[in-house]
Amino acid sequence: MPVTQQNMLDAMDGVVMVLDAALRIKQVGEPNWVRFRDDNPPQDPTAFERSKGSVLDRPITDFFAGDAVRATFTNLFNSVLRGARPLVRIDYRCDAPTVRREMRLAVTPIASDGQMHHLLYQSITFRAQPRPAVALFGAAVTERDDDAILTLCAICARVAWPVGAPTGAREWIEPTEYYRRDGGDVAMISHGFCEACFARLKDED
Ligand SMILES: [Zn+2]
Repeated sequence: MPVTQQNMLDAMDGVVMVLDAALRIKQVGEPNWVRFRDDNPPQDPTAFERSKGSVLDRPITDFFAGDAVRATFTNLFNSVLRGARPLVRIDYRCDAPTVRREMRLAVTPIASDGQMHHLLYQSITFRAQPRPAVALFGAAVTERDDDAILTLCAICARVAWPVGAPTGAREWIEPTEYYRRDGGDVAMISHGFCEACFARLKDED
């Protein structure tokens, strides 16, 4: 029996997807997708139900929270499609309340007929350490940027402090430090980039 593209995706490590030129999800590596979904119940169940059927044909950026995060990743992925950069490779944190997770995202072009109409999106967990619960990682994430609520860096998972302070007047602290400074419980957080991570992403450009 010949090896199909789906067999290959199913065999690859991490959450693996094929994106088209509009960054829509066209294929998903099945076993790891199911495992990822079951390990990570949606924090906002109304935001998206993550059955395989419900993600196909949706832009991958639908699953990124925060306007700046979406715009930056869209630019990075498009630059790979244009051939302006060979790939995107980003190490980032994606914690659950009781698990510290270090992830690596790699987005590489799939060439066919000398053209790049598709991308391979692969997100691998390379370290997962259990730890005492950090509640804010269980909070729902708003889709839009919102400086008035707790903002978490989408790359390094540090928190903008003090909450609600204008850009430039805030520092980025570890989530545990947030609680040490008597940061309160939050029902909703937003995702953005700290200055250091944003500068690193721009360098990538
Ligand atoms: Zn950061």
